[in-house]
Amino acid sequence: MTLIVVLVLAILVVGLGVGAVALVSGRRQPKAPPRQAPTGTILEEERASRATEEPLPGPQVTTLERPDGTASRLVRLRQRLARSQGGLGRSLLALLSRDRLDESTWEDIEDTLLTADVGVGPTQELVERLRTRMRVDGVSASDAGTVLREELLALVDPTMDRRIGVTGADGSPGVVLVVGVNGSGKTTSVGKLARVLVAEDKSVVLGAADTFRAAASEQLSTWGERVGVDVVTGPEGSDPASVAFDSVRTGVERGVDVVVVDTAGRLQNKAGLMDELGKVKRVVEKQAPVTEVLLVLDATTGQNGLVQARVFRDVVDVTGIVLTKLDGSAKGGIVVAVQRELGVPVKLVGVGEGPDDLAPFDAETFVEALLDQGA
Ligand code: GDP
Repeated sequence: MTLIVVLVLAILVVGLGVGAVALVSGRRQPKAPPRQAPTGTILEEERASRATEEPLPGPQVTTLERPDGTASRLVRLRQRLARSQGGLGRSLLALLSRDRLDESTWEDIEDTLLTADVGVGPTQELVERLRTRMRVDGVSASDAGTVLREELLALVDPTMDRRIGVTGADGSPGVVLVVGVNGSGKTTSVGKLARVLVAEDKSVVLGAADTFRAAASEQLSTWGERVGVDVVTGPEGSDPASVAFDSVRTGVERGVDVVVVDTAGRLQNKAGLMDELGKVKRVVEKQAPVTEVLLVLDATTGQNGLVQARVFRDVVDVTGIVLTKLDGSAKGGIVVAVQRELGVPVKLVGVGEGPDDLAPFDAETFVEALLDQGA
């Protein structure tokens, strides 16, 4: 009898134990198979909420990014410029605030401006104006900052029209040609510009007409895919003008707002460049007028960049400048020099390798960043 009771109790204890183990291990079971990914697009909030989930198998998902708008770009622009260019403003201010502004101080001011690539003409002009104002107006050292801000702003010229011509006439798309030498950041800037336009709710087609640089069209296709912008490409080594033509035709047929065309960046001799860019422009204009020609210049190349700028100005009607890599150079004075050299405004500046590190150039923001005391 006792034996039977013991046996029954033992069976009960073992049963309970197995149940408990099943409960605990049940929590460790792998999750039910994740849900099928929908085909189509996913915007960022949804993507963020999925970040903690397991990767989704199934059909390929096109993840569309939402590029930054102008306001946040300008905030980043100011911060990046303050970091890279702030030294110029601070050095100038320290010199101007000295008790005695003797000849050697003025020479130091001049050297500081020249080192920052402001250029000889604009440097002499600025020094002259500062001398006059500090002497004639009897400006105190504490007001030197205000005078410097005003004179730098006048030099960068806030009156220039820096809008990008993206509006076509009579229902045709705006057509932006982007020119510049290889390595200046041209293709990257076209990709970034597409994001600026998408952020402004514009429909865009990109033309990968830099058919001479291996991978340029692949690079551009990736930029386009990220924001849902179609990229018209051609085989490597094919005629850039034909790709440019196809891209603008595609834009016209689809009725998009803007077509941005990346062009070949070979800087052979001037005649060759003129032939090539001239042909691109001519064939494109069979479809729609070119509304903007942006020249991409690498800010770190200093005088070389200016030499290139002159060549391009002579072969094509440049209407705006994209100054890249301002984050990697303390020579922001090139903004002034290149505007003077070409007589066209800097319209966009590149301040990093991130996808949204391209911002509209704004004279006030630039000068504020130069004089940023906290930088
Ligand atoms: P392309 O030959 O002129 O088309 O040059 P790419 O667009 O391929 O750019 C050349 C390199 O410059 C790439 O590594 C880019 O990431 C880099 N780049 C472009 N713009 C900027 C910028 O504003 N800042 C920095 N730091 N790098 C940049």
